Amino acid sequence: MSKMGSFIVVKFGGSNFKNFQGYCEVIAKIKEILEFEKGKTLVLVVSAAYGITDRLFNAVNNFQNIDVRTFLRELYDLHSSLLSMSNDGNSHQITEELKDLENKVFELEKIFDAVKLLHKVPDFAKDLIISYGERLNAYVLQKLLQKEGLDFELKMPEEWIITDGKFGTASVLLEPTKDMIEKRLDYWKNKHSIVPGFYGVSKEGDVTLLGRGGSDYTATVLAYALDASYVVLFKDVNGFLSGDPKIVENPILLEKLSYDELEELSYFGAKIVHSNAVEPLKNRSIPLYVCSFSGNFSLSNCTVVSNEKHLSEQCVKSVSFTDDVAVVQFFGANLGRVPGVLGEISKSMAQSGLNIKFVITSQTAINLIVSKKDLPEVMRVAETLRLREVERISYRTDKALVAVVGYGLLDTHGIAAKVFYQKVR
Ligand code: ASP
Ligand code: MG
Repeated sequence: MSKMGSFIVVKFGGSNFKNFQGYCEVIAKIKEILEFEKGKTLVLVVSAAYGITDRLFNAVNNFQNIDVRTFLRELYDLHSSLLSMSNDGNSHQITEELKDLENKVFELEKIFDAVKLLHKVPDFAKDLIISYGERLNAYVLQKLLQKEGLDFELKMPEEWIITDGKFGTASVLLEPTKDMIEKRLDYWKNKHSIVPGFYGVSKEGDVTLLGRGGSDYTATVLAYALDASYVVLFKDVNGFLSGDPKIVENPILLEKLSYDELEELSYFGAKIVHSNAVEPLKNRSIPLYVCSFSGNFSLSNCTVVSNEKHLSEQCVKSVSFTDDVAVVQFFGANLGRVPGVLGEISKSMAQSGLNIKFVITSQTAINLIVSKKDLPEVMRVAETLRLREVERISYRTDKALVAVVGYGLLDTHGIAAKVFYQKVR
């Protein structure tokens, strides 16, 4: 191991929590890790049970058309059945646990009642409601671990993960978060912890989600704040592959990736690791292991992501793509020659809080690549710009972006030729 920090952060995702059997396998895996890393303190980050985040999104978006009571009953039944299945005969204990769960679901019911009165869901209520998937699951797993004699303390992100307050897709403010955690480092050291992933709180105290797949990000933020030895993300694939197995035939399992390579792949659509999750690790050179859940636990079977820039033989490590792109085109006869046009365009987009993913310019066109969801707003801002050099603005949504990523690409000849040759064959 590159350093001797005493924390290990391990994240389990929704696909690990499909049914009671899944929870048993997670517990077995935790036992294995505890055995493998004797003396270290474990921090578990969990996402919601399988499919629950989607169902919560659906409930919030359709709260006027669904029977909220029935939905909440199902949520309660699903989580309580897991506790009942592992009932160890301690009836007092199980009654307490079911009461706790009931209270949590009741909190949720009150939020839905408020939303119904308002006839709309404010952003802060939406994020709060959706965070319950993680809250319920972390609670259940903690109790199941307890029944196995494993003592993990439930620690809630609202006490120390501080975000920029952007609802739905917040970024974590790393330094304030680290300060909060460092203030109580002993509290973290004394016991193994279990933490619901996927959310933090703004400075104003509102719950803010970290974007889909955000538990990865919670895990790496915690690793940063605790200066952990390493982070493990368990996935339902073998590790990081050279391409999406749903599209690419027989992709290869990558042994190593650099932080930058992983960031690029995630930015350009590889869904396997949250795109913000790398940055916290980079700052402290904490290795990340992307591991398959099946088989025995061994770090050597995982993809390790670290500082090391490794030039592989074929140079290209992996390919990812996204079709969440809209191309906004500014046409004008002289665009390539006049300085400052792109600057004006990007300044106005930034002032409206719009992110530009990518830019391609030429003599007669400036093309902004933006997320499809931002297209209407980008077009609105573009139309108000009135730049002398721009004669016409239009857009296209029938494109996708393919990213070919690998350290050393810029200094290796013939890659583009191979990529395009494969494409036309
Ligand atoms: N449960 C959340 C989601 O499905 C967060 C996560 O899985 O990491 O997006
Ligand atoms: Mg998930």
